[in-house]
Amino acid sequence: MRRDLRLHDNQALTAALSEDAAVIPLFILDENILDHSNPKRNEFLFEILKNLDTSLHKTGSRLILRKGKPLPILQQVMQESGANAIFAEEGYSPYAKSRDKLVSEYLPLILLPGLTIQPLSVVKKSDGNPYTIFTPYSRQWKKVIQPFKEFPTPDQFGAIPQIVSKPIPSSHTHPLFAAGEEAAQKRLTDFLQNQITSYGSRRDFAAEESTSLLSPYFHFGVLSIRNAYQRAFQLQNNVSLPEEKKGIETWINELLWREFFIMILSEFPHVVQGPFRKAYERIPWRSSKEDIESWKTGKTGYPFVDAGMRQLLETSWMHNRARMVVASFLCKDLLINWQWGEAWFNEQLLDGDLAANNGGWQWCAGCGTDAAPFFRVFNPITQSKRFDPDGDYIRTWVPELENVPDRYIHTPWKMPDDIQMESKCVIGKDYPDRIVEHAFARQRALDAYSKTKI
Ligand code: FAD
Repeated sequence: MRRDLRLHDNQALTAALSEDAAVIPLFILDENILDHSNPKRNEFLFEILKNLDTSLHKTGSRLILRKGKPLPILQQVMQESGANAIFAEEGYSPYAKSRDKLVSEYLPLILLPGLTIQPLSVVKKSDGNPYTIFTPYSRQWKKVIQPFKEFPTPDQFGAIPQIVSKPIPSSHTHPLFAAGEEAAQKRLTDFLQNQITSYGSRRDFAAEESTSLLSPYFHFGVLSIRNAYQRAFQLQNNVSLPEEKKGIETWINELLWREFFIMILSEFPHVVQGPFRKAYERIPWRSSKEDIESWKTGKTGYPFVDAGMRQLLETSWMHNRARMVVASFLCKDLLINWQWGEAWFNEQLLDGDLAANNGGWQWCAGCGTDAAPFFRVFNPITQSKRFDPDGDYIRTWVPELENVPDRYIHTPWKMPDDIQMESKCVIGKDYPDRIVEHAFARQRALDAYSKTKI
């Protein structure tokens, strides 16, 4: 088991069980992955593994855990147990592909789909090439999707041989994301009952809980993406109001963005090293340790940007609108290479995911597949006024601004001195002054981008 840490609708598990033999649920703590992950994401993983082990015990089985490099461990476990085949979910990152290629050179490895709703190979252009633009991709995706049945949760695994399992490392429950299949299912159900129909109109308001908050579960496959899609799709057929249908349609489209970026990573692995469009390698990025530090710690002087960055630091998650604004701020306003931002997100996010993170950053930097044109530079003040009109998001994450009057909450540097004193927020002392002026920064970014003659 790898990124399919659930029992429901698990295609690899179902295929293994259909062999009419005992199945050993095995998870390898792969050093190559653990070292590139972050401690919070690892803890979340350990919690998920504990939960999975508990569920397996209820079926008379248990999780076997080992740590190290996949190939030698698989060889060892096969020898110890007498197992004769390995079933696993197919992965699409360059690392996953090379790992599986190596394993299959030595061992009988059978790969099954499940990371995406439809296998990647199904959605191709008529000439067989991969799509590079989202809208035609999603149109084709919807055209070719076939009705499918989910695989039920197995209740029998057969007795497993007495082989050693390492203890699952100790961990703490994440305050926002309880681990395990039941918690993920409950969150999906709540979202489908309460928020999805208004998702289209509310999803951008950063202070509201109007998105599903399911991304960490999808990342580890605690929730089947097919199950989430199927339930949303069925609901769409059962609601009657057009705006409700629209809300559901918008959410399903987000699942397709996930699918799209996984496909891009698989087909164009060079995105891991640099821009999808090579011409963007020529952008003359600035390097400023101080600016990066201000951005990382949420001290840029732009309240909405700082709120996003501090939400990330405190919860290991960030609202999508804030992700777009802080990303644009780093690569446009500060003119710092988006790859610094991508790496920081990966270090902090619970849902940190190579495909989605890379795709999101390339989109914001304007160098990706479908990217926002480079001359579209988010204005952090306008975005703040539009998507956090009352400043609730800002006040939640930037407590220094708690008493700042509404009039100045998006532009605290404009506060007259007496109001700064009254609201206990002296600019430059209690809260930083802007590290850059947006109009100037915007022009600097446009000049830099256009010099590369993109
Ligand atoms: P919802 O709005 O409820 O969406 C449902 C699901 O659809 C999400 O859980 C996610 O799996 C998928 N999804 C939504 N938007 C996107 C998107 N733009 N691209 C790909 N999948 C999407 N998402 C990650 O899962 N991991 C990342 O590392 C990541 N990094 C990002 C970096 C940047 C710069 C940007 C702009 C976006 C990034 N996203 C990433 C996408 C998006 O911000 C998150 O998926 C979303 O905020 C998660 O919250 P949610 O579960 O409430 O999403």
